[in-house]
Amino acid sequence: MPSYVGAIDQGTTSSRFLIFDEIGKIVAIHQIEFPQHYPHPGWIEHDPNDLLNSVSTCIDEAINQFLKDNTHSIKDLKAIGITNQRETFLVWDKNTGKPLHNAIVWCDVRTIDLVHHLTKQHGDDIFRKSCGLPISTYFSAMKLLWMIKNVPAVKDAHDNDTLLVGTVDTWLIWNLTGGINGGLHITDVTNASRTMFMDINTLEWNQQILDFFNVKKSCLPRICSSSEIYGHIKIRDNEIPIAGILGDQQAAFVGQKCFKSGEAKNTYGTGCFMLFNTGTTPFFSKSGLITTVGYKFGNTPTVYALEGSIAVAGSAIKWLRDNLGIINETKDVNTLAALTPDTGGVYFVTAFSGLYAPYWRDDARGCIVGITQYTRKEHIARATLEATCFQTRAILEAMNNDSGHPLTYLKVDGGMTSSDICMQIQADILGMEVDRPMMRETTALGAAMAAGLAVGVWKSLSDLYNVSSEDNDVFKPQISSNDALQRYQLWQKAVERSFGWA
Ligand code: ADP
Repeated sequence: MPSYVGAIDQGTTSSRFLIFDEIGKIVAIHQIEFPQHYPHPGWIEHDPNDLLNSVSTCIDEAINQFLKDNTHSIKDLKAIGITNQRETFLVWDKNTGKPLHNAIVWCDVRTIDLVHHLTKQHGDDIFRKSCGLPISTYFSAMKLLWMIKNVPAVKDAHDNDTLLVGTVDTWLIWNLTGGINGGLHITDVTNASRTMFMDINTLEWNQQILDFFNVKKSCLPRICSSSEIYGHIKIRDNEIPIAGILGDQQAAFVGQKCFKSGEAKNTYGTGCFMLFNTGTTPFFSKSGLITTVGYKFGNTPTVYALEGSIAVAGSAIKWLRDNLGIINETKDVNTLAALTPDTGGVYFVTAFSGLYAPYWRDDARGCIVGITQYTRKEHIARATLEATCFQTRAILEAMNNDSGHPLTYLKVDGGMTSSDICMQIQADILGMEVDRPMMRETTALGAAMAAGLAVGVWKSLSDLYNVSSEDNDVFKPQISSNDALQRYQLWQKAVERSFGWA
């Protein structure tokens, strides 16, 4: 009997459930967008129940598709993996199961004053050797500290040991495996490596960091590997193993099969994230990149990655649509940008919530420079696409600098890679080939691979190489490296203009 593996993909703007066959073909998919809440400028929240309900509905609808023609049975679904927006943090009461606050989303910058206070006193690197991360609004620790300080119900629950906390994987699994009736309170090493609380070397919660922040270990989930049978989810009276957990960028890293040291992928979604495989020991960047866990499959050695994170990528296109109104749908950015061969000297630094790697400037804010009487909306559209491509070059240069082994081509995925024009700009600006898979759902595929590996649908890494192995689209550079360098240097000047606005 053929085997199938499901993947919950809980992203920043939508939730999905997909079912893959053994060669990585999608046989069923359902996707739901959910509301974003912006209570104040710079604050972004999700309702935890929206996350849970959207995932449950997606599972239900995709299973309906899967079972529709009686060609499959629910018993053919051998395992489910989960991948999720990372760093976004949730708090709930262990006895009632009720959320005590909305989820604070990864790109929320409400903790900027706390971050400034801490970095002024201690510098931003005090825990970098332990957790791999600088102190920043981006990671979960600051979000939890804010909630304990500002939400009395969270403080009380923390004091009284009735608080449970976690990233989105933890919240979903706790609920889907029973909630107040014995739900599993777990996370995996990749999600835990984004909180600031996990020791990157031992893969355990770091007591020194917890003491420093005054956070009790008892409210944190148990840290597991990324691929093992953690428990079961009941679907149509069948207990399906939940057997893979990976943060979304690590899931794409697995889905792109970056299994060898020196391989990298870049995912262009709401934000944009490059992960570079550094092998089985953590590597600490000298160039502003962060150290993170790439994946850990069961008892096999942990694979680490260097990461370059860009906070704003596809979300800038949505800003053109929702705030400026110069396009009706996100895909229209491509037709608009195609009206002009260049930006007419316009550069758009999309630092809406500061700049992450390699700059790490919480005080940066967006700016558009080089505007003249001649500037039209197509120039702004093109400059929006270019912004992510220039930031990717900055990250790639940092990675090459750290590793000493320059990448020769870039594997890409994510919603924004549907844009051929953007991928061509990327190849031009990097001066290297950009390699885009036909199957773009690499994030969900990575989670399915982790789960399928745990239950034996795929037996080894070499089996995983055969999953979804059709040809890719390749974009080759069409401008000279000198041209690319000149434009990149102007971009760097524009970036400097964005500093110090917040
Ligand atoms: P996430 O998982 O972060 O929610 P996705 O990988 O689904 O993100 O990508 C969504 C992003 O991709 C959106 O922000 C959108 O602006 C961008 N996007 C989607 N389709 C296109 C397109 N055809 N051209 C350019 N950008 C696109």
